[in-house]
Amino acid sequence: MAFAFRRFYLLTALFLVSVQVPLAGQTAIQSPGQFLPHALGEKFTPHHLLVDYYRYLASAAPHTMRLQRYGTTPEDRPLYIAVFSSPLNMERLEEIRLNHLRMTGLESGTPDLSKPTAIVWISMSVHGNEPSGAEAGMELSWQLATQTDPSIRQWLANTVVIIDLVLNPDGFDHYAHWNRMASNRLLTPAPEAREHREPWPGGRLNHYCFDLNRDWAWATQTETRQRLAVFQQWMPHVHPDVHEQGINEPYYFAPAAEPLHDYITPWQREFQVKIGKNNAQKFDQKGWLYFTKEVFDLFYPSYGDTYPMFNGSIGMTYEQAGGPPAGRAVIIDSGDTLTLKDRIAHHYATCLATIEISSQHAGNLVENFRKYFQQTAGKPQGAYKSYVIKAQNAPNKLARLCQLLDRHRIQYGRAGTNLSDITAFDYQDGKEKKVSLAADDLVISAFQPKSVLTQVLFDPIAHMSDSLTYDITAWALPFAYGLDAFAARQRIDPAQPYLPHKVPEMAIAATPYAWCIRRQSLSDLILIGQLLQKDVKVRYATYPFETEGQKFEAGTFVISRADNRLMGDALHSLLRETAAKNNVSLLPVLSGLMDKGRDFGSESLPLVPPARVAFIYDNQVDPHSYGQIWYFFEQELQYPVTPVALDGLDRAHLYDYSTLILPDGHFALSDQQTKYIQEWVRNGGRLIAIEGGAHCLLDKEGFDLKRKEEPKKDEVGGIIRPHSSRERDNLSDNLPGAIVQAKADVTHPLTYGLGERYHSLKTAADALEMGGKGTPVIYLDDDYASYGFIGYRLKPRLRKTVVAGLQSIGDGEVIYFADNPLFRCFWEQGKVLFTNALFMGE
Ligand SMILES: [Zn+2]
Repeated sequence: MAFAFRRFYLLTALFLVSVQVPLAGQTAIQSPGQFLPHALGEKFTPHHLLVDYYRYLASAAPHTMRLQRYGTTPEDRPLYIAVFSSPLNMERLEEIRLNHLRMTGLESGTPDLSKPTAIVWISMSVHGNEPSGAEAGMELSWQLATQTDPSIRQWLANTVVIIDLVLNPDGFDHYAHWNRMASNRLLTPAPEAREHREPWPGGRLNHYCFDLNRDWAWATQTETRQRLAVFQQWMPHVHPDVHEQGINEPYYFAPAAEPLHDYITPWQREFQVKIGKNNAQKFDQKGWLYFTKEVFDLFYPSYGDTYPMFNGSIGMTYEQAGGPPAGRAVIIDSGDTLTLKDRIAHHYATCLATIEISSQHAGNLVENFRKYFQQTAGKPQGAYKSYVIKAQNAPNKLARLCQLLDRHRIQYGRAGTNLSDITAFDYQDGKEKKVSLAADDLVISAFQPKSVLTQVLFDPIAHMSDSLTYDITAWALPFAYGLDAFAARQRIDPAQPYLPHKVPEMAIAATPYAWCIRRQSLSDLILIGQLLQKDVKVRYATYPFETEGQKFEAGTFVISRADNRLMGDALHSLLRETAAKNNVSLLPVLSGLMDKGRDFGSESLPLVPPARVAFIYDNQVDPHSYGQIWYFFEQELQYPVTPVALDGLDRAHLYDYSTLILPDGHFALSDQQTKYIQEWVRNGGRLIAIEGGAHCLLDKEGFDLKRKEEPKKDEVGGIIRPHSSRERDNLSDNLPGAIVQAKADVTHPLTYGLGERYHSLKTAADALEMGGKGTPVIYLDDDYASYGFIGYRLKPRLRKTVVAGLQSIGDGEVIYFADNPLFRCFWEQGKVLFTNALFMGE
């Protein structure tokens, strides 16, 4: 049947090329406008209807289209890609995919170069309230599935197009439903109309209020993780990431703006120009406004344009005027009305033009893509060729790193050999030195298919062509994970597979007096959180101790039978099960009498309080920070947390909680609320204030956080600074995001498990210090090291400022985080620091 259909199809297709008569069987396939209850662009399409249309299309056009479900969102919506090509290509799709992957080295075997096929992957609406990409995707998919347009048919003869229907279905649906609910029956193009004012937190972000277009490299979110798995199976040549921007902006397409990351190759730059010129030609024909080479740079590796770039693709952002202020139609500054139909038409045009140019240069694309992988894997670009993670790092830190590497298909292994005298950069102290390699060390070599991505994620300093960028400028993973690690200038090939550390089953001869858990990584804290939820009493040592031949650091958790006597024998099995689940070692101790240090009955082993945690939300709270707290508690720490509305925060409710978190944002506490909170802290409450949350307490009586005095601005000697340099001048007082090496007071419970140096990801230009009543626990010293861009005027001002500080008030305390430790939830050390603040004793 399939064969008969194909013959019929091909014959008809040939006939069509010459006569241009629509094929009855194909035109019978309904367009989105015919299928949906509304015309395309008339209303926003809810996600389930969009999915219905794709399912219909896939069943109606099985020879030109395949719909593949690749996952599920936190709110249980399906994630899909749709794959399109000619019927002949669709028959051998798996063969095309494997042959293509052979060019990257991720698949073994010699690639067949005789039939070059371009792979174009188009990502729609990663920001859910920028929906015109996904709406345009339906029209585009209809054209790609029916192939009634002879040009499209011709392009698909040597091109496979993959469309990710909607990258963020939860956000997309939040927006679509809200807009339909808030919209008048007739269009209301006045910008002040309700349908243009989307309420907090908005559909841009996913369920957990994460920006999925900042998450590609860190893969904290389930949407990203599932998408990466299918992305690695395809590794496209060309990847447009389809967005929307301010309503008065002309359309933006490649080539991108400076700065570009140094590892982006001349070939990738050149092809961006080719794509841009083709798009420009289409827009010129229609008389549509556009711009290139401005605003959208290519540096931070976690975007939908840069991440594909560092995977050998031509990654690009396409930006159409729109987003929530655009609604279905809006009057813009020029007096014109921008409609959803316009937005769909523009995205449709660039996506189709991208398919056209990729098809026209398929041979060129395939050849250069193959060379890219040959060259980068054979002769990596950067100064550092290998990265060594020492075997003595906490096993669970290593396990979490390996999990991330696996998501990116970055290869690694066990060194397998001892080598002395490698010249390498030490991430911990920031110095180049001679170090020795041990056989058990984890080695990641840049001589591998994912060479560029490896270097981008591990190089201590990323190099860019210009400093004018608006996202973080440093992110090296060994800093984020707090690893004892080195970047080596020489090639080191791992000799053996690296096997993750598995905790051995606990074998105890006698009944233990207590169990100890070393505080080394987030896994240990997750375990403690789970035990607290089961009413297990946990203490921690505030001094180092030695017993039965083992040495323990301050911060070690101690769970004694005495503290939990009501649990009887159930304690043992609960501990064993929970520790095994978290891959954490339980160390049994047979006596409470220590050989060195304080005994287990000492008052220097405080109980870990079972925190009852609330955090604030409000339309002035930064939704990202709100989401980071929410996600971290639910998905990582797996510990209960309650979001409480700022205006519902009254005296009575406060006492239901032991811990209150003020997220980052621009909200303010009323005088009454400040008074209540202070009283609650005095009575034993714990307040954790993050960035903007800490700003709420600045200069408030009783709170001891201060802004460091601003020095006078540089004298400009009477010279009037040109208007054009204003943007750059602002940079000198600023930092878009950099890593600073901070000093930690290792005797303080807030820093347990972190070591004496804490690399903080600083994303705000705040210079804060503690007054006389507070303690700076983590702070920047006079000679602090930093990575990434910090404005030259700001850099000295950050000396002696606080990263994390503590103030005791009565029976409670306030913990101030000048740098948000949960920023994008990829800073593993930040998560440990934050959890220490929760589980610290009174
Ligand atoms: Zn966007």
